[in-house]
Amino acid sequence: MQAFSLVIHGGAGTILKSDMTAALEKAYMQGLDEALSVGYAVLENGGSAVNAVKAAIVVLEDNMLFNAGRGSVFTKKGVQEMDAAIMDGATLAAGSVAAVRNVRNPIELAYEVMTESNHVFLSGKGANDFAIKQGVKLEPDEFFFSQFRYDQWKEIRDSDNYSLDHTHQDLDELMKDKKFGTVGAVACDGSGNIASATSTGGMTNKKYGRIGDSPIIGAGTYANNKTCAISCTGHGEPFIRAVAAHDVNAIMEYTGSSLEEAMNEVVHRKLVKMNGEGGMIGVDAKGNMAMVFNSAGMYRAMRGSNGQYAVGIYKELMQIPVS
Ligand code: ASP
Repeated sequence: MQAFSLVIHGGAGTILKSDMTAALEKAYMQGLDEALSVGYAVLENGGSAVNAVKAAIVVLEDNMLFNAGRGSVFTKKGVQEMDAAIMDGATLAAGSVAAVRNVRNPIELAYEVMTESNHVFLSGKGANDFAIKQGVKLEPDEFFFSQFRYDQWKEIRDSDNYSLDHTHQDLDELMKDKKFGTVGAVACDGSGNIASATSTGGMTNKKYGRIGDSPIIGAGTYANNKTCAISCTGHGEPFIRAVAAHDVNAIMEYTGSSLEEAMNEVVHRKLVKMNGEGGMIGVDAKGNMAMVFNSAGMYRAMRGSNGQYAVGIYKELMQIPVS
């Protein structure tokens, strides 16, 4: 078995230590660690990269702290519309869903699109009909409701503003209720196959059926065994225009750059020029890992079979050796 690895994120934005309480920090660290452990166990047991990223995302979607699945933000109309995507770097198979409602784990639905339909990208009511056909778990509106998200939305719902989950908010208010963060995972398994997955509630007060970068293959999510698996988080519009995840793949393929060099080029140069705030996580087929962001912080964690283990929220990373 070759080296295997898993990297996850829980969103990027204006996340500052000065605004964080010890209890909230702990809750985030625990949430990240739990998802990392569940996904990593799949790899340790010889499972595939696709199954590892899916398992990690399900845990994050079920955690109210993060803006994905349960705990998703409110749209202009006061409902949750969720986006998710998954891609298999071994086959370039991919599945995405956008603007789905009441689906407990949108990543499970994206997986069904990838494996059980002849399509790549389903949206809205059609995607919900497919969820029913496939027996994907649905939940009532109340399941997704959180008072904090509601209050966050109430503050801007009468305006034309929409906001990235972690930015342009009263952070004191945010911290009180401890919830935000699009989620993503990338993995390299023991056979050298890689995969990527991303899931989000999108941006608070979004309207007109707005869809961000997360479910768009090549923008927020991409995987190809030849180069990298990438999951992005941040202000979706510039990430779409930069075709950010695929651009990392292209830089690696055409210039021979390493994973980290290519991610730095996209996040710290191309996206910065476009005011694209956020970051991304990546792996390559040798099991190398990277986490790069241009925002104040990014919830993130990684673990590799060579003993690497690190969790971070702000710029600095906590390195935790694994015995
Ligand atoms: N990229 C997501 C979007 O624009 C938001 C996020 O990453 O928090 O929908």
